[in-house]
Amino acid sequence: MATEHADVIIVGSGHGGAQAAIALRQRGFTGSIMVVGREATLPYERPPLSKEYLARDKPFKRILIRPAAFWQERNITFRTGSVATAVDADAHRIDLDDGQSLSYGKLIWAAGGDPRRMTCSGADLAGIHYVRDKADADRVMAELDGGARQVVVIGGGYIGLEAAAVLTKLGCTVTLVEAQDRVLARVAGPELSAFYEAEHRAKGVTILTGQAVDCITGNGTRTTGVRLHNGEVLPADMVIAGIGIVPAVAPLLAAGAQGGNGVDVDIYCRTSLPDVYAIGDCAAHANSFAGGAAIRLESVQNAHDMAATAAADICGNPTAYHAIPWFWSNQYDLKLQSAGLNLGHDRHVQRGDPATRSFSVVYLREGRIISIDCVNAMKDYVQARKLIEAGTLMDAERIADPGVPLKDAAVETVS
Ligand code: FAD
Repeated sequence: MATEHADVIIVGSGHGGAQAAIALRQRGFTGSIMVVGREATLPYERPPLSKEYLARDKPFKRILIRPAAFWQERNITFRTGSVATAVDADAHRIDLDDGQSLSYGKLIWAAGGDPRRMTCSGADLAGIHYVRDKADADRVMAELDGGARQVVVIGGGYIGLEAAAVLTKLGCTVTLVEAQDRVLARVAGPELSAFYEAEHRAKGVTILTGQAVDCITGNGTRTTGVRLHNGEVLPADMVIAGIGIVPAVAPLLAAGAQGGNGVDVDIYCRTSLPDVYAIGDCAAHANSFAGGAAIRLESVQNAHDMAATAAADICGNPTAYHAIPWFWSNQYDLKLQSAGLNLGHDRHVQRGDPATRSFSVVYLREGRIISIDCVNAMKDYVQARKLIEAGTLMDAERIADPGVPLKDAAVETVS
């Protein structure tokens, strides 16, 4: 059997993979492009899976990244339901789970990550869910249709909190368990954590922080509850675990690519393997907004901007990755928008009163703004992006005064 060939093969049909194909065509790339994706569907937006899609406010059709005709018109072909299992970088070939092989000129690895699974006793019982792809969200929705109403969410990160918000709105009784002493501990300052905990509690969610899960209890087949280390058992007919992801890079690492927590890439998103790029959640890179520290970012922004970087390099116009990180989260009527990275901040300043449900937290390093979290505070967000990009020196007292536009709290002028 002849090996099929594409000039560019993209592994992963998520945000990064889809955007890489789009960016290649936008830049005039005329070669063949094939996207190999494990999921059965065309690329769709992942964020709504814990928001509007889970709430049934948006049907699947409305979260497709592009309609089918878009891909056809641009001659971007998809191999859906297909898993890349191995990479031979010298031969420029990948193997698929159906036994076939494909050869490539350039390979873009955009495989994201798989949800970190619970490993405690009872973790394999029915009724335990993760929310990473459409099939996961559909399984949660099917449980709701089947009558599940008592839910324990494990993990107080964005996905856990968003799921808790939607399920509460849908009439479930929700308890959220977080091992750290506050929700969002990994990503946000204590004011934001306290605000979100209070909002969720006000909506009826029970939030338990500083509590580790001991095991999942069951009746032999299905989950019946979650036992905490302190012995308390939280009754549950459904458990949702949002405890992070494991980067999906095993085939690349097995092929000899450098990496560990993801696969390492340079400023052009090139891996250490010839003609192999990696982008998105799975790509560890030195981020200029993290002071050059090697990090992985799990955001749509990062997947899109890295896709553009890899496409530019393939099209012979190498441009270093330097994009301001940004992120959002919707919970109830609260729109959180974050820009920059707060890693290494030495001071943070609250701006506005959380009681008004519109406020921001500004993070500074040596007086310069490096990051912001804005809750229902669009103006601050827009102004902060420019200030962060320029690494602007700020006056902390003026930041703290919500009557002063954020840009006027700059000590130096930003063009
Ligand atoms: P993905 O979009 O995960 O795509 C990877 C694809 O590769 C998947 O389809 C996977 O099945 C496939 N794949 C994996 N291994 C293989 C293989 N070996 N062969 C073939 N295919 C493979 N970000 C935000 O900025 N804002 C938000 O509000 C937000 N909310 C989120 C809510 C949820 C529920 C989730 C899960 C994520 C959310 N994110 C959000 C994060 C954002 O969706 C990710 O950062 C983004 O999808 C990363 O894109 P990616 O291309 O790296 O990976």
